[in-house]
Amino acid sequence: MKNLVILGSTGSIGVSTLEIAAAYPDRYRVVALTGGNNLHRLAEQVRQFQPQLVAVLTAADAERLRSSLGPGHPKILFGIEGLIACAVDADAHLVVSAIVGAAGLVPTMAAIEAGKNVALANKETLVAAGPLVMAAVARKGVQLYPVDSEHSAIFQSLEGHSKADVRRLILTASGGPFRDRALAELRQVTPADALAHPNWQMGRKISIDSATMMNKGLEVIEARWLFDLPAEKIAVHIHPQSIVHSMVEYVDGSVIAQLGIPDMKTPIAYALSYPERLPLNLPPLDLCALGSLTFTKPDLERFACLGLAYDALHEGGTAPAVLNAANEVAVEAFLQGEITFLAIPAVIRGTLERHRTEPLTHLDEAIRADRWGRSEARRIIDSIP
Ligand code: NAD
Ligand code: MG
Repeated sequence: MKNLVILGSTGSIGVSTLEIAAAYPDRYRVVALTGGNNLHRLAEQVRQFQPQLVAVLTAADAERLRSSLGPGHPKILFGIEGLIACAVDADAHLVVSAIVGAAGLVPTMAAIEAGKNVALANKETLVAAGPLVMAAVARKGVQLYPVDSEHSAIFQSLEGHSKADVRRLILTASGGPFRDRALAELRQVTPADALAHPNWQMGRKISIDSATMMNKGLEVIEARWLFDLPAEKIAVHIHPQSIVHSMVEYVDGSVIAQLGIPDMKTPIAYALSYPERLPLNLPPLDLCALGSLTFTKPDLERFACLGLAYDALHEGGTAPAVLNAANEVAVEAFLQGEITFLAIPAVIRGTLERHRTEPLTHLDEAIRADRWGRSEARRIIDSIP
C-alpha cells in the first residue's frame, strides 16, 4: 500500500490523480489532501477518500470546511503551515505536487527535506528554484518522478540508457489554440479564446501558458534541472497532434519517443506506480486513424514567451524565478481583462530587464526573487495606460 499526499487535490491534476487512486484502492491510500479555492469539491474528496489531514488557504476556509463536513471530520489546517504539515506527513510515501504556480515551491521543498518521494506536476517549483530542488533531492536521496507529460516521456525514453549518450532532448508542444494565428490576430484574442485548448483539458493558468507557449518555456527550464542537461541540448518542436509526448536523441542518431493519446492519467499513473505500469481504461492510440504526425519549428516572434524563458535560463540565478513570477501576475491580469494577450510577454520582458540577477544559493533568495518579480510586474501593469 502506498500512502499518498496530494497537494492541490481540487485542480485538474489533483482530480485525475484521485481518479487513479480510486480505481486502485488496494494500492493507494490517500492520507492528506490540500485545496485552494474549491471547498465544495474538497469536501466531497474528503468524504470519499477519508484522509487524516487536510489543508486549506485560510482560517475562515478551515472553519467552513469543518462545518460542511460535520462531526468526525479529519484534522483541518490552513495557510502555509497547513500545506507543509501535509507535505511532511509521517505516513506519506509519495507526495503529489499539483498546486499551480510558485505557491507550490515551499511545500514541495518541505516534502523533499522530509525525505518524501515526490510526483511533480508543479513545474513552477523547478523553474523558480531548480538547482536548489535538485540538490535537496540528491542530498536526501529521494525520487522525483515527473508528471508533466513531456518530462514523463523523456523519463521513459531515458530508461535503460546512459545519460552520457544523450545528444539532445526534444520537447514537443501542441502550439496551443493560436498555433496558426498571425501576430496581428493575436492582438485581439480574449481569455475565452485562449482557454480553449485543442488537445488538453487543464487548469486556467497552464491553459494560458499553453496559448503564449510560456508553458513550453517553463518546461524547457524544468527539463534542464530534471535531466541535468544544458539549454543548448533542449529543443522544442511544434507537434499539433500531441501524440509524441517528447523524445530523446542519442549520439548514434537513434531517437526514442513515448507516444500515447493526450490524457494526463498516463503520466500521472506512471509517476504513482513506477517502475510498474497500471492498466488504465483509456481509448487506445490508433495511429492508422490519425494517419499522420507532423512537426515544425516554433515561431519565436509570435510566441515571444518561449524566447524569454530560454533567455532567463541562460541568465541563470534568480532570473527564472522572476520570469515565472512576472508570468503568473501577467497571466492573472490577462484573465481579469486588465491587459491584452500580447502584453503578457511585454510585462515579463519589462520585469526581467529591471531585474538585477543574483546567484541562487538558498531558498529564501528564490522566494525573494519571486516576490520582487510579482511586485515589479504589478507595477508595470499598473503603468499601462
Ligand atoms: P489547477 O488550477 O486546475 O489546480 C491547482 C490546484 O492548486 C488547485 O487544487 C488549487 O486549489 C490549488 N491552489 C491554487 N493556488 C494555490 C495557493 N496559492 N496555495 C495553495 N493551493 C493553491 O491547476 P492544474 O492544471 O491542475 O495544474 C497544476 C500544476 O500541474 C501546474 O503547475 C501545472 O503547470 C502542472 N501541469 C498541469 C497539467 C494539466 O493537464 N492540468 C499538465 C502538466 C503539468
Ligand atoms: Mg506539459
